Amino acid sequence: MAETRSTCPYCGVGCGVIIESEGAQISGVRGDPDHPANFGRLCTKGSTLHLTATPEVLQTRRLLTPQWRPQRGGAMQPLGWSDATARIADKLDAIRAEHGPDAIAFYISGQLLTEDYHAFNKLARGLVGTNNIDSNSRLCMSSAVVGYKQSLGADAPPCSYEDLNHADCVFITGANPAWAHPVLFRRLEDARAARPDMKLVVVDPRRTESAEFADLHLQIAPGTDVALCLGMLHACIWEEWLDRDFIAAHTEGFAALKDLVRGMPPREAARICGIALDDLMQAAQWFARSPATLSLYCQGLNQSSSGTAKNTALINLHLATGQIGRAGAGPFSLTGQPNAMGGREAGGMATLLPGHRDPGSAAHRDEIARLWGVPALPETPGKTAVELFEAAARGEIKALWIACTNPAQSMPDQALVRRALERCELVILQEAFADTATAAYADLLLPAATWGEKEGTVTNSERRISRVRAAVPPPGQARPDWQIVCDVAQQLEARWRPGQPSLFAHTGSEALWLEHREATRGRDLDISGLSYALLDAQGPQQWPFPEGATKGTARLYQDGHFATANGRARFIAKPYQPAADKPDARYPLVLNTGRMRDQWHGMSRSGVVGRLFSHEGTPALRMSPQDLPRRGLSDGDLVRVRSRRGELVLPLLADEGIKPAQAYVAMHWGQEFVSGRSAQGQALLGINAATQSAYCPDSKQPELKFSSVSVERLELP
Ligand code: SF4
Repeated sequence: MAETRSTCPYCGVGCGVIIESEGAQISGVRGDPDHPANFGRLCTKGSTLHLTATPEVLQTRRLLTPQWRPQRGGAMQPLGWSDATARIADKLDAIRAEHGPDAIAFYISGQLLTEDYHAFNKLARGLVGTNNIDSNSRLCMSSAVVGYKQSLGADAPPCSYEDLNHADCVFITGANPAWAHPVLFRRLEDARAARPDMKLVVVDPRRTESAEFADLHLQIAPGTDVALCLGMLHACIWEEWLDRDFIAAHTEGFAALKDLVRGMPPREAARICGIALDDLMQAAQWFARSPATLSLYCQGLNQSSSGTAKNTALINLHLATGQIGRAGAGPFSLTGQPNAMGGREAGGMATLLPGHRDPGSAAHRDEIARLWGVPALPETPGKTAVELFEAAARGEIKALWIACTNPAQSMPDQALVRRALERCELVILQEAFADTATAAYADLLLPAATWGEKEGTVTNSERRISRVRAAVPPPGQARPDWQIVCDVAQQLEARWRPGQPSLFAHTGSEALWLEHREATRGRDLDISGLSYALLDAQGPQQWPFPEGATKGTARLYQDGHFATANGRARFIAKPYQPAADKPDARYPLVLNTGRMRDQWHGMSRSGVVGRLFSHEGTPALRMSPQDLPRRGLSDGDLVRVRSRRGELVLPLLADEGIKPAQAYVAMHWGQEFVSGRSAQGQALLGINAATQSAYCPDSKQPELKFSSVSVERLELP
């Protein structure tokens, strides 16, 4: 039996795993005791990873050969790799010639490795000549990116997991780490056991498993986070709980924020949030007066039409109370996906360039063009996820290349997404798992290698870069994602840059990583001192790790110097705005979505493991028991959930953790489990038939967690 050290491919905690294999078969997995993210622990998902690679799964659930669909609506047919890449190159060439480079778009994934991101980005921007490259990370953390940049000057979470051991107050808001980041939550439980005086505040519209563990649960009305933070800041000003020395020495913009906060006294904030004034005051006091306060936050802040305002409102609190740049203190955004951070570093999104550069800056575009050896990068702004599918639905995007994600399940407003996929002339889906909802819309299916089969790196929530290693070869004809990209790119180079040396002649993932590394040199995330060899010898490392450094950086801004032009952090004064999809008499309930403990995203991977359904095996709409009698409903009814976009049919479950006038459904349930239809009567599948695509104006992140709905008993014939 062989053992290979690698990283879990599920969540952003980024746990180290040891893969056990016999020949070409993965036979087991256990936590890596030496990995600094988990020290040997794994959650239910991580500890069953080997069951996603059994011979049966490989034969029945994996995509093993390239396939193409000669006719829309017809069956797929296998074809060889050289035919597949030539067919793609011919079609992309024709589309670019007729419609221009912006008729081509790429929709990729926070589950790709950094090397894959680099290859896709270079293909889109450096060769095709479009900024139309975005990622499903748009759905989970783009508000955190913009929040950090606006407030602190760079997209850099300043904290480490180790800060849990130093925090006196942990403020969890818009996150349920007990289920979504389980190994990190175990670290919090340990830290709390060691420091019994630690205060834990959880802000969540639902009484989650994380909230059950808290000293104080602020069960705010959905979407009212900004009002809460403004009210808490008002309390801090009124009670003189500010760190005025820190504000004077290290920040700017406090006067404008103070003016805004004047209009949100704690009593008014508590009224908007639907919580007790005393609870708001207690939370403000613990946040400000504890020696060190660490906040942990995720989709509850990010997936919102005011996602950036929610992020900056929380960071304002940290700056005003000096709770940043010290052990145990700081605003710590948790990433959902295993390599959302790596995608940000590689600039694999419409609004980013490699090395935390800005595609709107001519100087930044020139720097990357020089590094890649191309004449120039495109200027026209790229389309973000929702914009991209909207443009495709209008017929402006002709070719869409999707990798390692399932937008026909995971994007909001499925009626729009499916119209978009149908309207594209060419849909390429590069995937490890066959039969995702998106595969039904693909003209070409490209089999990708996945966890346990490919080499590269990922970065977790605490800026820690870990190696991902292949324990076995990919099954069938599956190939690493970066290699598929490079193969097609070389076909395109033969058409577009004949006779010139190839920019994509990489023979391994390390060559791509070295190019990526060069793009970080001298930037805030500088990793010029890292190498595969160093990661192999010394284990995972946190950035920045510039050339000459002997170790990574656990904590940022300890000297009070921030990444803004003048070194001062900025207070951002954004008012509270209600969510976009207003409840009314027809749609009186607010539908929230979130994660289950044992499933991952659209279940492409976790759904192949039978035992992961033992915790929750069927979808359900959860509502407050108080709401049921007055709406003529009973626990166990089959109900129709209607939004302005579509409707779903689900069993109803009474849940004491949900407040009246709200409803909740887990985000994972797709076409196998939930039937529905669009407002126009088109059959739609999965819970995102009902969700909405309104997005934050700054981050373009859609508001998946707030949809106005009605719920009625389904009368069976
Ligand atoms: Fe994997 Fe996240 Fe579980 Fe760790 S906590 S084992 S990274 S799913």
